[in-house]
Amino acid sequence: TVKVITASKHKINQKLISQAALKTCDGLHKAGFQAYIVGGAVRDLLLNHPPKDFDVATDATPEQVHKTFRRSRMIGRRFRLVHVLWGQETIEVSTFRGHHQNDGDAATNDSGRIIRDNIFGTIEEDAVRRDFTANALYYDPKRQEVLDFHDGVADIRAKTLRIIGDPVKRYQEDPVRMLRAVRLSAKLGLKLERATEAPIRKLADLLEDVPPSRLFDEMLKLFLSGHAIESIGALRAQHLHHGLLPLLDVVLEQPLGEKFVMLALKNTDDRILAGKSSNPSFLFATLLWHEVLQAWQENQKRGEPLIPALHAAMNEIIDKQGEKMAIHNRYTATMKEIWAMQPRFEQRSGKRPYALLTNPRYRAGYDFLLLRCASGELPQELGDWWTRFADAGTEERTAMLLPDS
Ligand code: ATP
Ligand code: MG
Repeated sequence: TVKVITASKHKINQKLISQAALKTCDGLHKAGFQAYIVGGAVRDLLLNHPPKDFDVATDATPEQVHKTFRRSRMIGRRFRLVHVLWGQETIEVSTFRGHHQNDGDAATNDSGRIIRDNIFGTIEEDAVRRDFTANALYYDPKRQEVLDFHDGVADIRAKTLRIIGDPVKRYQEDPVRMLRAVRLSAKLGLKLERATEAPIRKLADLLEDVPPSRLFDEMLKLFLSGHAIESIGALRAQHLHHGLLPLLDVVLEQPLGEKFVMLALKNTDDRILAGKSSNPSFLFATLLWHEVLQAWQENQKRGEPLIPALHAAMNEIIDKQGEKMAIHNRYTATMKEIWAMQPRFEQRSGKRPYALLTNPRYRAGYDFLLLRCASGELPQELGDWWTRFADAGTEERTAMLLPDS
């Protein structure tokens, strides 16, 4: 049974609702369909957080949605969604999803994993296949009411994150839900309900079968949530980190590595919470740096010269990481540039420091160097030297150069 929560009870601040989302719902209503703002946006509104994106759920099929809005496009192949475009803003519209019949057209594989999810259904069916009660709320902009099928509003009020249905079954269907539990609870300050939390440690290994690119998307959200430090702590507590960042695991056990990674994450959290952007390449470069360092040293011991040894180490570590959690190519290129610049910061004679300053990635490389100094890997004097050199005039620069070695 559905609970209907009226405006005087839910007290959602109308100003936090995106005009684009309202116009999308309005357009669908006028075309004769149901339309609700759904998912994370409603949850965030109830917590009085400004949502960062808005999703709409409707009984219109993707084709019908597409026809309703001139500026829209259908995306996805197996389960199609529609993106409705309003200026800079995009509203993602999905059709209510239903259950599969158990008639041989199995929607799950042998381990209970969902492999198909493309049958349309009713709003009730749509609600029950969402992950957490707080994420299964539907806001009707016309009546300004929240439809609550699983007591999500009460859970939000009680600061609780609760999975819908049988926790073990829901994690087996989609193990990424375990990561979402950890991430959303840290980000929103919600406590994991006991039964929701209980099976996670035991089921952690299920993450091994999740496609690496999906893990990457989820981990990126986690690292850029503004609560990365807390989330990593929770991942460790739930034993969820092993498969994901096997390398990070090792790093966190070396004192220097741990200090370096924590400084980087703190940096990222501070930036995000201050409303600034953060560069994922930089972050992933920091997470894997101590692994690269170790492989670099080993390659040198085997007799490879300094720079080729570094390049070989970078590739080894990225490949190794990619088996579990594939970092997108668009990030790995920049990560390599940041790493490859590092030995050049130790060359402080002749023309080379001038050349380094003109590198388009200089700023990222320099910020990376400062973290290495702050974590104790390199003397602070080196970082300070570059800070001064970058700002100095011609004469001061000449005077700063070290003699050729
Ligand atoms: P965020 O604020 O980080 O975007 P979110 O809950 O909105 O959090 P999305 O990935 O944007 O996360 O998902 C939108 C909605 O889709 C969720 O609120 C939830 O209802 C549903 N959903 C997402 N992932 C899953 C999943 N793995 N299983 C079931 N439902 C999911
Ligand atoms: Mg969202």
